[in-house]
Amino acid sequence: MEKEADIGKKDLRALEYNDMEALILGMGEKKFRAGQIYDWLHKKQAGSYDEMTNVPVALKNSLSGEYDIYPVEINRVQESAVDGTRKYLFELGDGNLVESVFMVYEHGNSVCISTQVGCRMGCRFCASTIDGMVRNLTAGEMLAQVYGIMKETGKRISNVVTMGSGEPLDNYDELLKFLRMLTDGRGLNISGRNVTVSTCGLVPRIYELADENLTITLAISLHGSSDEKRRALMPIANKYSLAELMEACRYYFDRTGRRLTFEYSLVRGVNDRASDVDELVKLLRGLNCHVNLIPVNPVRERSYVQSTKQALLSFKNKLEKNHINVTIRREMGRDIDGACGQLRRRVISESY
Ligand code: SAH
Repeated sequence: MEKEADIGKKDLRALEYNDMEALILGMGEKKFRAGQIYDWLHKKQAGSYDEMTNVPVALKNSLSGEYDIYPVEINRVQESAVDGTRKYLFELGDGNLVESVFMVYEHGNSVCISTQVGCRMGCRFCASTIDGMVRNLTAGEMLAQVYGIMKETGKRISNVVTMGSGEPLDNYDELLKFLRMLTDGRGLNISGRNVTVSTCGLVPRIYELADENLTITLAISLHGSSDEKRRALMPIANKYSLAELMEACRYYFDRTGRRLTFEYSLVRGVNDRASDVDELVKLLRGLNCHVNLIPVNPVRERSYVQSTKQALLSFKNKLEKNHINVTIRREMGRDIDGACGQLRRRVISESY
């Protein structure tokens, strides 16, 4: 099912405005054409050249020699009977599949997008990583997930998170373009404050991101309060120590003033004991942060089990007692293959 990612042409939707302008001027065209095309792609969310009715055919023809608008088509949608969460499987131009999720919260609608087909980070509890990384998505393919969901639901989107498949900071350049275009007034104009980038902790990239002058929230997938525990769940912890990661987090906060989020998926008997929370309290002391506790979502291919409700609540209480902001992530769409990568895996295996 997964074909080679051999897309000869570049993705027109992945061009930032300035690059679009340079391209159009370079073709000897008038500057306003760049604005028209950008508007078609990112305001009107056109998926083809044909829709761009006020752009001359000759210009479209010469553009299409080098640039495609990479297709990101809805392959299937599942709606949760429990909470209205909608899970999308998008098919890309090369036949690859990625997942995205639409969630309704009190403060607005949120979309969770994928940044790569698969993932190479190898976190033990995560379904996205089981077959490794197939390819990076372009910024355009990331945007098109948001656009496609807007179109299908007819709803406004106010929040975007990169918690689908892939490690966003492992696809850094396209991620940055995506973030700038998503928050650009020439496109959806989503407030940077409503965008969250989640990472398993690629330390050098966290430093880089801190210096990009963005207002986004950084979420760190922590999942363990010591090197030993993180290493048991996340191979990336062998590369960067917890001390190095926390130092990078402090730098991020100092540079951006943005409160950090730490994600902590509770796995029964692995990281949910009293000693784990004590260690976590020590680790986070003095840091302006928020902890998001996630009951681990069981993945068919893995044997991890969720913590008991009691363990979850006592973990939360202990953090609160120590004045650490904490929430328990609502388990959304559990009835629709909620955990990252599960829908895609099921559909791929069905088709064999
Ligand atoms: N690569 C990014 C985005 C991953 S998905 C990252 O590591 O942050 C977003 C979050 O869901 C991460 O914290 C990830 O560790 C977590 N996650 C993945 N699979 C999970 C599962 N089966 N149960 C609970 N959390 C999971």
